[in-house]
Amino acid sequence: MRYTSTRNKNISLRGSQCILKGISEDGGLFVPEYFPQIDISELIDLDYRSLALFILGEFFPEIEKETLKMATNQAYDRKFSSNEIIKQENIMGVNFLQLYHGPTLAFKDMALSILPYQLNISKEIENIKEEIVILTATSGDTGKAALEGFASIKDTSIIVFFPEEGVSQVQKLQMISQEGDNTLVAGIKGNFDDAQNGVKYIFNDEDFKSKLKEDSYILSSANSINIGRLIPQIVYYIYSYGKMVKNDEIDLGEKINIVVHTRNFGNILAGYYARNMCLPINKLICASNDNNVLTEFLNTGQYNIKRELKLTSSPSMDILISSNLERLLFHLRNDDK
Ligand SMILES: *Cc1c(COP(=O)(O)O)cnc(C)c1O
Repeated sequence: MRYTSTRNKNISLRGSQCILKGISEDGGLFVPEYFPQIDISELIDLDYRSLALFILGEFFPEIEKETLKMATNQAYDRKFSSNEIIKQENIMGVNFLQLYHGPTLAFKDMALSILPYQLNISKEIENIKEEIVILTATSGDTGKAALEGFASIKDTSIIVFFPEEGVSQVQKLQMISQEGDNTLVAGIKGNFDDAQNGVKYIFNDEDFKSKLKEDSYILSSANSINIGRLIPQIVYYIYSYGKMVKNDEIDLGEKINIVVHTRNFGNILAGYYARNMCLPINKLICASNDNNVLTEFLNTGQYNIKRELKLTSSPSMDILISSNLERLLFHLRNDDK
């Protein structure tokens, strides 16, 4: 399995290289060159950890199975309040996934519990000696989940930027009270897009990066622009489908619709990846709040970046620039299913 950039198809890298880089030098995002084709019937009996091991193994074949197994076992351990890792509940024929049983209660825990392991393993594979500095923009949940995931991980530090006025009080307190001497949190004047653009800007500043390298630091990202963050999210779509089959709610092979509330398009994109690999999905339905730039785009084909950002009671959906949409456009243009 190799990855290319959404902006330059001549690029071809291993997953471990992409995880370390976070974003491609041309400003594009890393995408798998193909989707592994899997028979869903072989997956429905796996528990969460075994399924995570299988999916990650498909996308990161350069990681030894035993190493990956240790990582999935340690990532999805008793930090999660449910031994099953996720739960689901059928209410009047609709299945609700409960992705909030992780240490920070955000669904981001599903990926950010394992990303630190993926990074350290990648470092070893690529023989990188520098200390990794994670830069992350957040409107709340990512920040806390990333801080929690990376706190006290050796040879790694994390800096989180959040819009001072754009997160909830609980999220702010969660972040600024973070423990661990390798963590730093900064409130910025501006909104989430400003924070995200600032981080992308730093990533593309080659001068700054070479100065850092002299001091033995390299940058990486814990946002869903990092492919290492996206792949672990495929797991819960497949897992929950298997559960629905086992609970006799659907027949094996029966198509389902999946509704995902969306901001950076990472969560729903992981569903799209699952669909391209094996999952019988009829429609992926993208839900928005007042900042419905994606709904508008999907309905009209026009993406209006110049709209005004509205601050709502759901800050995790307040966005104008939805990064992972670029990945979807890449895959569609390349004629994937
Ligand atoms: C992160 C987050 C979102 C947005 O998810 P994307 O993957 O960026 O689309 C929505 N709601 C909550 C509560 C979140 O934490």
